[in-house]
Amino acid sequence: MDTLKELFKIGNGPSSSHTMGPQKAASIFLKRNENSEKFVVELYGSLALTGKGHLTDWVIKEVLGEERTEIIFHPELFFDYHPNGMKFKAFLNDEIIDEWLVFSVGGGVLKELNEERQEEVNYYQYNTMNEILNYVEERGISFLDYVLESEPQDILTYSRLIIDTMFASVKRGLKTEGSLPGPLKLKRRAPEIYQKHLLKKDLNSLVFAATLAVSEENASGNVIVTAPTCGSSGVLPGVLYAYHIFENIGKDCLTKALLVGGLIGNLVKHNASISGAEVGCQGEIGTACSMASAALAYLKGGTSKQIEYAAEIALEHHLGMTCDPVMGYVQIPCIERNALSARRAIDSCNFALLTDGEHFIDLDTVIISLKETGKDINPNYRETSLGGLAKVRKIR
Ligand code: SF4
Repeated sequence: MDTLKELFKIGNGPSSSHTMGPQKAASIFLKRNENSEKFVVELYGSLALTGKGHLTDWVIKEVLGEERTEIIFHPELFFDYHPNGMKFKAFLNDEIIDEWLVFSVGGGVLKELNEERQEEVNYYQYNTMNEILNYVEERGISFLDYVLESEPQDILTYSRLIIDTMFASVKRGLKTEGSLPGPLKLKRRAPEIYQKHLLKKDLNSLVFAATLAVSEENASGNVIVTAPTCGSSGVLPGVLYAYHIFENIGKDCLTKALLVGGLIGNLVKHNASISGAEVGCQGEIGTACSMASAALAYLKGGTSKQIEYAAEIALEHHLGMTCDPVMGYVQIPCIERNALSARRAIDSCNFALLTDGEHFIDLDTVIISLKETGKDINPNYRETSLGGLAKVRKIR
């Protein structure tokens, strides 16, 4: 598995696959062709179908230059390798001087056609939960110890930066009023719910407010942390921020809990997928919920088996969840879904902590099921906005 620095990335929303990935690809292509007079970028499959709502075309033009860039949408063209394909072409004196077919495979990661999807650098000795559980139990160490011995030496410093960035986006979102960009004209709800929380002072309202705050910042194209993706970026900070404020848990503990949650996200990313375009929302919000549940179980002193169970419950009960963003915007159902899944992460954790951690279906099995279910989900429900809620909205 790759380093957690590749899972938790700081960047602008609203989508790691549809915004961050294309932004990175455009920057690389621009560096290769700084003298180009004109760029043509073809977007394929899911990038073409929901690109406008995810600001794909906007971010590419921002990088390459609005006046010299033409975007062509090919929603009918899906590559078997991955649904998020794009081809960059650079022109000089009306002749093509460079061309690059590249895929945004989730979490801001880019791959070329048929390139091996596993990471080149494997930081971890064991890449399944069962292997990791055996290893930590045999040696009498924790998941955190395993992460720390696998990751680069500065991972705790990086994790602290991630916590600070997450909380900065919570704080901005809690006080920013107005509407979200796009035709849906949705009102930001985090500030209002936060005001209600200040009167009630209960954990639930703070979890909802903090999660909405980050998701609304993401939908506005502002800075967030992929956890594991932009669309699902609200769940983990929502839960951690609420416990930081409500239970007075210090940032040092949260920094460590984030790494435990990250281990779960890495397992899903490595053994299945965290891309909504590939496996539906189960891979995004389902994984985020599982990560948050594991992080919280760590904070509450759970054993390794209880942490694994907390992660397993959260992921299991998101299996089959489809991705059908209305009009292609990462707003409905995404924003509310983050808030509800943050609550579900807490419930999953609390449930697991009532047991000794023994259970029937293990996390590895759920991750494999997620991958298989993702393959079977009709493409209309994999970030194409062609089915489900997205279609209902179009009929009206
Ligand atoms: S429905 Fe889920 S997977 Fe799809 S864009 Fe929204 S958050 Fe991402």
